[in-house]
Amino acid sequence: MNNETPQKVQAEHLNRNALLYVNREAAQKVQVEHLHREAFLYVRQSTMRQVRENVESTQRQYGLKDRALALGWPVEQIVVIDCDQGQSGSSAVEREGFQKLVAEVSMNRAGIVMGLEVSRLARNSSDWHRLLELCALTHTLLLDEDGLYDPANFNDRLLLGLKGTMSEVELHQIRARLRGGILQKARRGELGGRLPTGLVYGLHGQVELDPDRQVQESFRYLLQTFRRTGSALAVVKVFNQESLKFPRRVWGGSEKGEIIWGKLAYHRVTWVLSCPRYAGAYSFGRTRWHKLPNGLVKATKKKLAPEEWYAFIPNAHAGYISWEEYQENQKKLHENATQYRCQRHRTPPREGPALLQGLAICGSCGRGMQVQYHERRGHLYPDYVCGANASRYGEKQCQRIPGRDIDRALDELLLETVNPLNLEVALAIQREMETRLEEVDRLRRQVVQRARQEADLARRRYLQVDPDNRLVADQLEADWNSKLQALYSAQQEYEKQKQNEQKVFGAQQREKILALAADFPKVWNDPNLPHRERKRIARLLLEDVTLQKEGKIIVQVRFKGGSLRTLELPLPLPFCVLSRTRPEVVEAIDALLGEHDYQEIVDILNARGLRSGDGHRFNVNILGEISNKSGLKSRRQRLREKGMLTFKEMLRKLRVTGVKIAQWRRDGRIIGQRSNYRTEYLYVEPTPEQIAVLTGRNQ
Ligand SMILES: [Zn+2]
Repeated sequence: MNNETPQKVQAEHLNRNALLYVNREAAQKVQVEHLHREAFLYVRQSTMRQVRENVESTQRQYGLKDRALALGWPVEQIVVIDCDQGQSGSSAVEREGFQKLVAEVSMNRAGIVMGLEVSRLARNSSDWHRLLELCALTHTLLLDEDGLYDPANFNDRLLLGLKGTMSEVELHQIRARLRGGILQKARRGELGGRLPTGLVYGLHGQVELDPDRQVQESFRYLLQTFRRTGSALAVVKVFNQESLKFPRRVWGGSEKGEIIWGKLAYHRVTWVLSCPRYAGAYSFGRTRWHKLPNGLVKATKKKLAPEEWYAFIPNAHAGYISWEEYQENQKKLHENATQYRCQRHRTPPREGPALLQGLAICGSCGRGMQVQYHERRGHLYPDYVCGANASRYGEKQCQRIPGRDIDRALDELLLETVNPLNLEVALAIQREMETRLEEVDRLRRQVVQRARQEADLARRRYLQVDPDNRLVADQLEADWNSKLQALYSAQQEYEKQKQNEQKVFGAQQREKILALAADFPKVWNDPNLPHRERKRIARLLLEDVTLQKEGKIIVQVRFKGGSLRTLELPLPLPFCVLSRTRPEVVEAIDALLGEHDYQEIVDILNARGLRSGDGHRFNVNILGEISNKSGLKSRRQRLREKGMLTFKEMLRKLRVTGVKIAQWRRDGRIIGQRSNYRTEYLYVEPTPEQIAVLTGRNQ
């Protein structure tokens, strides 16, 4: 340093001419090896607008070519890179020209790189320092309007580094100034911008609902339908079923500003529901842009909660719904979404008896299992069915498992397991039931309220109509009447439900619920406990239950808190087998049939305490059915095999009237036995002697 400074001062003194000094310095830096390589002139304007309007700057940039010629590069060795016109220098990604330049430098093909201000090459420190490093390694010179630099030289490098930093600072400040202005304006809610369809600027710049009634009604109907159905897809379905179109404003082209009516799509519904403008709220900065690690300008868009927005002014202007309803809609949408993604199998408990509805998971594919019921003699029996593949792809059902035994086993398991936990469980159940009741009551009140509003509306409409306009007035009166009727029945229903509930959850019931803490089995076994509540209790205890059918039924029960139990149940016999009468009963019938008639057999069986397959006392009908179905020889057949004669045969044999034969049977003069449970008798064939005695005739 001490050596250098006097040298420089000396040179200044000696040469007096600064330009000469610069030229000498330049001549020292430019070596033959540099001249053998090419000179790259990098030309760039940040935006296309600058390219169009800032012609002066562009000309100055191209003018650097003369400097290269002056330093000794032949004209054919000067390469101009100007394909990055209209690209910002804030990142190298997507700047093809800059990347080409870096490639040329790193392959040692560049002797010098020129730019109007070299820092313009890159306004991003990391890109800039990488370029400097490469230039230093490959002995490439840099040139701008201020001078010539050798990045291998410490002083030059320091200067270049500073220039790069300054350039980045400059860019930041420009941006901060611009953005700051925008943000200030946005915070005051004055940053205008395009309004979504359905809203327009009024005469004084205030935001208003679109004066087009049809547009207004469409938005109202969409929001109403969502309120009613709670699902965006349901809204789409309603619009499509009723062939309603939805408005959209065109933002460009020859039809700019006009409204187009088109089919309502799902994404449009969710968009309308999520746009705060429709709730009359002003917002700015609802999303942030994040740079990806690879430096891509394309960034991920992240949704933020309202409290994180740059600007948020509720009730800033007219809207279609209130801010509260907007928030409720968001919640609903979110719930629907989570249900769709991961918790689809956790459907809310419904009325059917299947205990595992919404809890059963298929052991072979992991999807949630649905419940299907079948009815047998007045009882509902559940089947747990994995039919996802069947309904989605039309394939075979994955598995179908009869649920009766599973439910029974779980019933027992819960009773056995719950005891030690009972206090907590009961408290949770109580809380759950209470909040649930409040919620239900609120919903029911809403129904009545809505009916009342509708009746009021109908009344107002009726009162407003010109009485001379008879036809309309009549129609409106009828409408009012029916609305009043609806209100009345809604009120009745509300009162009835409320009473019922008080009946179920009065003070006594509260005690009962509290007693659950001490006595889970009692509550669980209470036959008056509705299925829905039983399932609710099961859900408090169980996380899920995995079912698998492999020769037997394997039931894996996961309790809340993570403990696992595995049950193995035999596959239930088919119903037709179950309902068949037990073999010993059939044997008994078989033995009795030869000796006794039907009524006698029925009496004997009942006296022995035997019952039919489905648990009934015997009667002749059941007996006939069982002997038929079990393939037993009928009594008639048996008697015939013994050689007994039918009534007709007896008539032919005895040649007397039927009345006589019946008379003799009753008198015991011939032996007849009932052959079925009706009144047919079969007769023991009389010997000729007997016939002679009976008829008084000699054969
Ligand atoms: Zn499955």
